[in-house]
Amino acid sequence: MTSQRTRDRLIDRIEHLGIKNQDVLRVMRLVPRHLFMDAALSSRSYENTALPIGHGQTISQPYIVARMTELLLEGHDDKLENILEVGTGSGFQAAVLGSLVKNLHTVERILPLYRHARDLLYDLGYRNIHVHHADGTWGWKNTAPYDAIMVTAAPDEIPDSLIKQLKIGGRMIIPVGENNGEQILQLLIRTSESDHIIENYESVLFVPFLQQES
Ligand code: SAH
Repeated sequence: MTSQRTRDRLIDRIEHLGIKNQDVLRVMRLVPRHLFMDAALSSRSYENTALPIGHGQTISQPYIVARMTELLLEGHDDKLENILEVGTGSGFQAAVLGSLVKNLHTVERILPLYRHARDLLYDLGYRNIHVHHADGTWGWKNTAPYDAIMVTAAPDEIPDSLIKQLKIGGRMIIPVGENNGEQILQLLIRTSESDHIIENYESVLFVPFLQQES
């Protein structure tokens, strides 16, 4: 059940659900989602659902991966230079986003997930995706500021430290809300050194963003 036809059927469904960015749809037809999950679950890899990847974490639902990527890249015809993802998990979202930007830095706090995603992305040939083992509460300072930031786990509120690592005019897409409660997909645009605006999109269900006390 991992044929191109199966994958195409999923992407047709995602398009039907409202994804318009043709580059996002094209890339999602190419990235082999079944390789980003345990073989025991790979028969379900082209269903439009989140699935467990161990350590209490999940690989995101394909529609949400497409939606977050589309919202992050909106208004940019050229490839963005420098992007940060917080929450590498399986590496699937990183593979999709990394195919559409120049450089992607992605951080994961759980060591075995970090190692697995790093090796898999390397084996699949992604040389512009840089995987780091770190707590993303403070983003990834070494290569900040970023044109865009994607967070794939849900904090109660958007961490200031991440806003500070966005360029002025940069965009952040992030699910915000209580653990296991309702979360809202928010798009933050940094309008100046001290200001930003936030737009609300659909409700979503993500694993919690674990924040260290500062
Ligand atoms: N983008 C992933 C989704 C993985 S689920 C995918 O496509 O598979 C979210 C991930 O965020 C989990 O792996 C979890 O360990 C990680 N995470 C949660 N809080 C984090 C933090 N503060 N710093 C880094 N990673 C975090």
